[in-house]
Amino acid sequence: MGTFIYLVRKVKILCLLLSITFVSYELEASDSDKHSDEKIKSIENYCQKSLIYYKDHPQLYSEYYDLLDFCKSSSKDLSPKGYIVNPIISDFGSMFGVNSRPRDYTHQGVDIIGKEDQSIIAIADGKVLETAVEQCWGPTLVIDHGKASDGKNLIVIYGHLGELLVKANQRVKRGDIVAKLPKKINYRCMARVRHLHLQIGQSYCEKKDNWGCRYFIKDFYRSLNPNNYWLDKQNKISCFRKDKNYPIGHLTYPFECIKQSKSEID
Ligand SMILES: [Zn+2]
Repeated sequence: MGTFIYLVRKVKILCLLLSITFVSYELEASDSDKHSDEKIKSIENYCQKSLIYYKDHPQLYSEYYDLLDFCKSSSKDLSPKGYIVNPIISDFGSMFGVNSRPRDYTHQGVDIIGKEDQSIIAIADGKVLETAVEQCWGPTLVIDHGKASDGKNLIVIYGHLGELLVKANQRVKRGDIVAKLPKKINYRCMARVRHLHLQIGQSYCEKKDNWGCRYFIKDFYRSLNPNNYWLDKQNKISCFRKDKNYPIGHLTYPFECIKQSKSEID
């Protein structure tokens, strides 16, 4: 009998402990759930806006729905808490393109989806090396942002753009609007998805006909992972703020971060 009472007490204590753990888990979860709900909503909104190509091609509706699913499941929102920012659909090193198809080689940049005419801002101070309308990529900028914190080159390609707002040899400051995302998706390499391809090259090709020069740089697989150079910490992007001083060699995100309260879905 004594043993039975002892066991009942043990079970009661265990139940109490379990319920406390459960309640505290619930409390924590509800906060982060709210945060992740907002992120999911924001990703969905960016995905819809980036797939504008399909509005003009309604016959491709099944491709649109497949891509929308792909976009929602593969896009990452690395924004700091309380902010909304354009998600990364295809990260550095990814074997899948923005259109969900397998790549021939690992991705040497990051692909960030966005809305019509959205402003792209310089990720550091620098000097424009080149503006071009490449036949597959569309309008593209190459900016020399100097050296990274580890001494490597920051020759940055901003690809698949719309309007270009700077000229070759022009100096730019971090946060300056250098270009806009395109209204329409008219170039093959844009792969039917409105996105910025941001790549940090090591060796700029002044002469395009040099052997090994491909899309502005002669890098092969040496481009840097931008996620290692955001100012705050690895794999969490740093938003540009006008009132902040930034150390040389660190990067801020190429899109403005919008405060969640005023932002939301426009
Ligand atoms: Zn890309």
